[in-house]
Amino acid sequence: MSFGKRTPLTDESRLSDENKLSKVFARLIQNHGPISLMQYMGEANARYYSTRDPLGAAGDFITAPEISQIFGELIGLWLADIWIRAGRPGPVHYVELGPGRGTLAKDALRTMKRFDLVPKVHFVESSLVLKDVQLAAVPEAMWHNDLSTVPTTGPILLVANEFLDALPVRQLVRTETGWRERMVGYYQERFLPVAGSLPMDAAVPVERREAPVGTIIETCPGAAAVMQEVARRLAEQGGAALFIDYGNVDAHEGSTLQAVRAHEKVDPFTDPGEVDLTALVDFAMMARMAQDLGARWLGTIGQGRWLKGLGADARARALGQIAPQHATAFWVAKERLCAPDQMGELFKVMGLAGPEWPDGAAFAGPAPGVEAE
Ligand code: SAH
Repeated sequence: MSFGKRTPLTDESRLSDENKLSKVFARLIQNHGPISLMQYMGEANARYYSTRDPLGAAGDFITAPEISQIFGELIGLWLADIWIRAGRPGPVHYVELGPGRGTLAKDALRTMKRFDLVPKVHFVESSLVLKDVQLAAVPEAMWHNDLSTVPTTGPILLVANEFLDALPVRQLVRTETGWRERMVGYYQERFLPVAGSLPMDAAVPVERREAPVGTIIETCPGAAAVMQEVARRLAEQGGAALFIDYGNVDAHEGSTLQAVRAHEKVDPFTDPGEVDLTALVDFAMMARMAQDLGARWLGTIGQGRWLKGLGADARARALGQIAPQHATAFWVAKERLCAPDQMGELFKVMGLAGPEWPDGAAFAGPAPGVEAE
């Protein structure tokens, strides 16, 4: 934002156009050469989330808590259940990473209260726009820029839905002359991926160095840092955590970077800062890392099986009985979250807990398509 005097040669639209991230990146690359993909994704998403509320029908994408209250309610139920079986320890903190509109927290906290679980509420959020929306939904929350300021005493009940996928990934590519970082260049008015000039072989595990030319290895240092911090806290403070995202349970190769705008997939190299950039979460790696730091891994399972195991069908029916005019809508929304050809299998739920904490409900759910009643 500028508070200076306007010069006659510029007007508002031209100014804002020059400030568009695509223009800034283009100038940067033209002057200094390609930037790393990690910088591209990190800055693009920081700009994207700080300038809008991207969620919902009028936005770019919709998330599970915005589809149905059942999602947040069953998360609240899961947290209350594990907390009760852990012996109701207190004072307890509900911590949510990237809470979006605060809808998940609102639904989860309402459900937890029915079981006399009334935790302190902490939101880790970087977007000022979304903070305002969250304040209206959950006025009692305390906001943090990262996990470091969340209290270090008392167990944490942590939830992160579609948070890790927004953190920037780093990619290495095998070229004819060895491993290079994958960068973003600018050529003929377009952004495009290019191989960097510095050798990166030392960053690749020895057993993978001889992979065929063109192989891409993707990692997410930000997600790894979050996972380490959460695991360490679970080990020291106790508690439980749920990470829900689209991702792979098995190790994967290749770029998973993708972009969404107005509910459509678009080219991730078009219009940085104006589209939502995501990458798949490597759940296998996350689970290993959490265990190495002393947390218990409770399981990683498809979202559909997990929700059904917690009674999603019964809850949809109960809501339909309370408001019969919406019964079909409740069922359709529940199916959208659970059906294997919708969000049920692509999205995974990973549960973690402190070493002294019990198993989590629904991680050994029925096979896909089987009614859990
Ligand atoms: N969990 C919400 C929103 C998902 S969108 C839901 O399910 O609806 C991703 C959320 O993470 C947004 O709230 C976004 O502002 C936040 N976010 C993205 N990158 C972040 C970062 N580096 N630090 C803190 N919050 C971040």
